[in-house]
Amino acid sequence: GNKSYSFMVRSRIPGGKVTAEQFLAELDLADQYGNQTLRVTDRQGFQLHGVIKGDLKATIRGINEIKLSTLSACGDVCRNFMCCPAPHADSPIHEEMQSLAKKLALHFAPRSSAYSEIWLTDGDEKVKVSEIDFNEPIYGRTYLPRKFKMAVALPEDNCVDIYTQDLGLMAIVESGKIIGYNVLVGGGQGMTPAKKDTFPAIGFKLTFATTEQVVDVCEAVVKVQRDFGNREDRKYARMKYLIADWGMPKFKEKVEEYFGGALPEPHPTDVTGVDDHLGWHEQGDGKLFLGINVDNGRIKDEGDFRLKTALRVILRKYGMETRLTALQGILLCDIKPEDRADIEEILKSHGVALAEDLSLVRRYSIACPALPTCGLAVTESERFMPGVIEALEQTMAEHGLAGERITVHMTGCPNGCARPYTPDIGLVGKARGKYTVYLGGNPEGTRLGFLFQDLVPEAEISQVVAPVLARYREERHDQESFGDYCFRIGKEGLAAS
Ligand code: SF4
Repeated sequence: GNKSYSFMVRSRIPGGKVTAEQFLAELDLADQYGNQTLRVTDRQGFQLHGVIKGDLKATIRGINEIKLSTLSACGDVCRNFMCCPAPHADSPIHEEMQSLAKKLALHFAPRSSAYSEIWLTDGDEKVKVSEIDFNEPIYGRTYLPRKFKMAVALPEDNCVDIYTQDLGLMAIVESGKIIGYNVLVGGGQGMTPAKKDTFPAIGFKLTFATTEQVVDVCEAVVKVQRDFGNREDRKYARMKYLIADWGMPKFKEKVEEYFGGALPEPHPTDVTGVDDHLGWHEQGDGKLFLGINVDNGRIKDEGDFRLKTALRVILRKYGMETRLTALQGILLCDIKPEDRADIEEILKSHGVALAEDLSLVRRYSIACPALPTCGLAVTESERFMPGVIEALEQTMAEHGLAGERITVHMTGCPNGCARPYTPDIGLVGKARGKYTVYLGGNPEGTRLGFLFQDLVPEAEISQVVAPVLARYREERHDQESFGDYCFRIGKEGLAAS
């Protein structure tokens, strides 16, 4: 349909936890009101695409009936409370991180009743704005200058990309217990090419907060952004611009003032790894979980590939809890070892590959929706990504690099919804049919890539990357990853080839 008459409806799912009933209901909503596909977002949420205006209320009510919420899935409040979703029953660490994500989501939920009054009332009765309760203990009457995102991760598993969030929390574990969190502030991926001083940023380490303090420290950070973030120009309204403007010492001082006490230096531990959680894993309680790759997050039936039907069959039969990952995958939890073969068979018979049969490039790569559903897109992304991955897989195989983990994030515009400025290869839609190619980031998401070539026509992306892969194979140090290699050689060094 015409995009100007159809809407995208996003569900807010802290930590990506979804029951079988909720999952099945979202699939039904996609069939009933959407475009027959359901999308797992790279922020552990769901998106329904192609909902027409007349069905909007019914769709949102349907989502509320299954106790998922579209509340603050958009708007200038704290949205997206991401967390490593792995269901490890044998250690309290994952549980504790996931309950922190839930606690933060509740703590920062807008109290305003406007949402329920507008969307959940029956019929078409009008709600007067003056009757809406705008009493917001954290957001006040002004809300925030801009959307605000948070995530919780472990040092060895930054699957939720904490360095790209407004506020990232990294659990510090000692003797099997979380003693507190390093608080990162000021990450953010968007930029506006027309505004030369906009930029993607990775977070700065602010402090270490104990488990008792962490929610209060987060609240202090949010309030500093509320009171001092730029409200004149939305292009400069994210917290990263406030931090760039003030510098970290002044920012930290202000947070200390709002927190009401001095904040210590960050803990020396830093991010060291990332895990996509795909394939079969022990949960630690005698049961298994299975991570399934979903190319670009799109759950659909198309030809021999019938993931949507396979999920319906499995979820109806077993009713397990599920989790959505930040790399657009699905975890099926609580599987008895004796059911493993049946579940594999259901997936295979519906043309769904198991993770072990997929390249790491495919598993770790993500794309934003872009055309035709995103009104801001200047190029293709999701629809073009399969071709990019295939070409890359082929080039890597030719160079004997088939087993390497090289991450590709692609977006249809510089807004950067699929976090394209931190992976090994970032592809950002710049002009019609042309992309900016970034290199030198890493799978762990701890640094920004550099602009390698601009305005590369879509058909030439693999030609641009292939010579770099060839050099990497020849010149890499022992165990050096592709991103680390590119980062070491640098833009000028690579351009000289
Ligand atoms: Fe749309 Fe741009 Fe975000 Fe892609 S990155 S979903 S094109 S706004």
